[in-house]
Amino acid sequence: YAAKNGGNEAVVYDPAIDKSSQESLSLLSELRRAAEENQFRLYVQPKVMLGTGEVVGIEALVRWVHPERGMVFPDNFIPFAEKTGFIRTLTRWVIEQSAALCSQLEASDIKLRVSVNLSTRDLLDQELPAKFAAVLARHALAPSSFCLEITESAIMDDPVRAQQTLEGLHAMGVDLSIDDFGTGYSSLAYLKRLPVHELKIDKSFVLKMENDPDDAKIVRSTIDLGHNMGLKVVAEGIETLGAWELLAAMGCDQGQGYFIGKPMPAEQFADWLQRWKSPFNGVNTAT
Ligand code: C2E
Ligand code: MG
Ligand code: MG
Ligand code: MG
Repeated sequence: YAAKNGGNEAVVYDPAIDKSSQESLSLLSELRRAAEENQFRLYVQPKVMLGTGEVVGIEALVRWVHPERGMVFPDNFIPFAEKTGFIRTLTRWVIEQSAALCSQLEASDIKLRVSVNLSTRDLLDQELPAKFAAVLARHALAPSSFCLEITESAIMDDPVRAQQTLEGLHAMGVDLSIDDFGTGYSSLAYLKRLPVHELKIDKSFVLKMENDPDDAKIVRSTIDLGHNMGLKVVAEGIETLGAWELLAAMGCDQGQGYFIGKPMPAEQFADWLQRWKSPFNGVNTAT
């Protein structure tokens, strides 16, 4: 078990290396213990209107504060959590924490939409809409205070069941978003068929758009495609004022990125919001 390796051995999941079943077992028990011992942390990243800088939402991003290894980022344990099914426990935790934060903010008259990431296994969980409805009811939150982000590859794993779950969530009044758009497969057919409201341009394109004309073209075409399909378009990975201005000029609706705010512990968000000054204060970027 985990304590045996004295914390010297990194047992975070690397999908490129096929771990022995021994190591996998040890990581799974570490994840379970992490849940029991409250080692997961809810981080949030602000989401703004690109035309005005108004903060309109936050994305929930989980972190694992490991007693020996310190901060572990989701890319180092989410894939493993998905493989083992532990993700269902984690997703429920994230939804619960996000709902608690949302109702806390509402109590201070801050009305924001919180986005939560779902993975493949969550989409195969047909009880998810009912469980989710129960959380909303307990926190007295409207379904529209949530947006659920899904990736194209999660949908592709089992398109029929994924669509059923998504229809169920949509029927409840929850907004749905396609995350990391442009990096998966078969985006267009599902964009047409699924009840989605929002499309998020993957940060790989946004990060390079100022220097690579091809990335800029992909971003521009994605914004137009989204708008033509009646969707809201969000850019992730805005690290510079230049990228923000370029995206705003292209008509992109919303954005998030380090330039605006890095993911921060949920309990620090209200303070951040109070200090937030839009670079477009008093300036109309639409002109
Ligand atoms: P994502 O949903 O696409 O989230 C955006 C990722 O981009 C986050 O990484 C965020 O910190 C990062 N990011 C935001 N702005 C910038 C920027 O300006 N520059 C750069 N370089 N990066 C930026 P993070 O938090 O490490 O999460 C990585 C991925 O892990 C997420 O990608 C999501 O797919 C997954 N994930 C995170 N939390 C959860 C969760 O609670 N449940 C599930 N199922 N997946 C999660
Ligand atoms: Mg996301
Ligand atoms: Mg993304
Ligand atoms: Mg991503």
